[in-house]
Order: sequence, then structure tokens, then C-alpha cells
Amino acid sequence: GRREPANLNALVDESLRLAYQGLRTKEKDFNATLTTCLDPSLPEVAVVSQDLSRVLINLFTNAFHAVQARQRQHPDPAYQPEVQVTTRLLPGKVEIRIRDNGTGMSDKVKDKIFHPFFTTKPVGEGTGLGLSLSHDIVTSGHSGRLLVESQEGLGTEFTVSLPI
Ligand code: ADP
Ligand code: MG
Repeated sequence: GRREPANLNALVDESLRLAYQGLRTKEKDFNATLTTCLDPSLPEVAVVSQDLSRVLINLFTNAFHAVQARQRQHPDPAYQPEVQVTTRLLPGKVEIRIRDNGTGMSDKVKDKIFHPFFTTKPVGEGTGLGLSLSHDIVTSGHSGRLLVESQEGLGTEFTVSLPI
């Protein structure tokens, strides 16, 4: 595909919905609070929309899996699964942050997540290709960066930053 100016807020919103519906089709009782904080001053950014939406759907799906896994591993009636997405305009770039309050990951896991075929999911549930592909799309495809911060037991935040 070609890079063309796109409304990232719309792309983020659409990808979030697709990922959520995708999971809820398979797991009817899955529920999470979705919070979107989309910067209305975001300019259009030249992206390959199909590729970027693939990245976002993968990041959202991973976030949903992480809150679901936390719920299953440590059942707690007070736990409210939550996935938040924020867009921001910064000097020279736009940022998309996706945060979840799921399982988080250890430093050992975090070191490997961008490697092709690395997965902690059961056989048949994860290919381990999502993040390596996403990293390629963001860095090689868009000269951007894909960063992760995570605390085991608390949650994870991925940041996609794209130069403008
Ligand atoms: P897959 O989803 O098929 O396992 P990915 O490349 O998308 O492959 O992710 C690789 C691994 O990174 C996951 O199996 C999981 O261990 C970890 N991971 C990714 N996103 C998250 C997240 N939001 N919270 C916790 N762990 C994550
Ligand atoms: Mg994945």
C-alpha cells in the first residue's frame, strides 16, 4: 500500500472497536472498560492505513488478552479490566498510547516480545508474530517508534510514535 494522509483518531477508534468486537464474538462474557482520549488537534499523518490499523488491532487485542488473563489468573470481584488509548500531538510527531491494566510482563518476557514467533499464549491462541510485524510496520514502514513499558501484575503501555 501507499502512504496517504489519514485521520489517526478515526483509525484508532475504528481499530479499537474492531478488536473489541472480534474478541467479544469469541468470548461472549468478555467485558472491559474502554477509554479514549483523542487529541482533536491531531493533524493528518501520511500512513498506510491498512498497515497501521493492523498494528493497532494487534496492540488492542493483546491488551484485551492481558486483562482477560489477569482476570482468569487472579479472580477478584473488585478488578475492573480497562483499556485506554490516548493520542497526542507533540513537537514533530504524533503519539498513540495504548494502556491496559492486565497481567503486565516480566523483564525477561519484555526483552523478547518483538522477536518473531515469541509468544506466551497457549498453542493455537498466539502466533507470536503480531508485535514483530507491528514493529516492522512502525519502524521500517513509517520511520516511527514502537515502545513498551510494563509492570508485572499491574499493566502495560505501548507507545506508537510517528514523525510528521
Ligand atoms: P501473540 O499475541 O500471538 O502472543 P504478539 O507478538 O502480539 O504475539 O505478542 C507476543 C507476546 O508479548 C505475548 O504472547 C505476550 O506474552 C506479550 N504481550 C504483548 N502485549 C502484551 C500486553 N499488553 N500485556 C502483557 N503481555 C503482552
Ligand atoms: Mg498479538
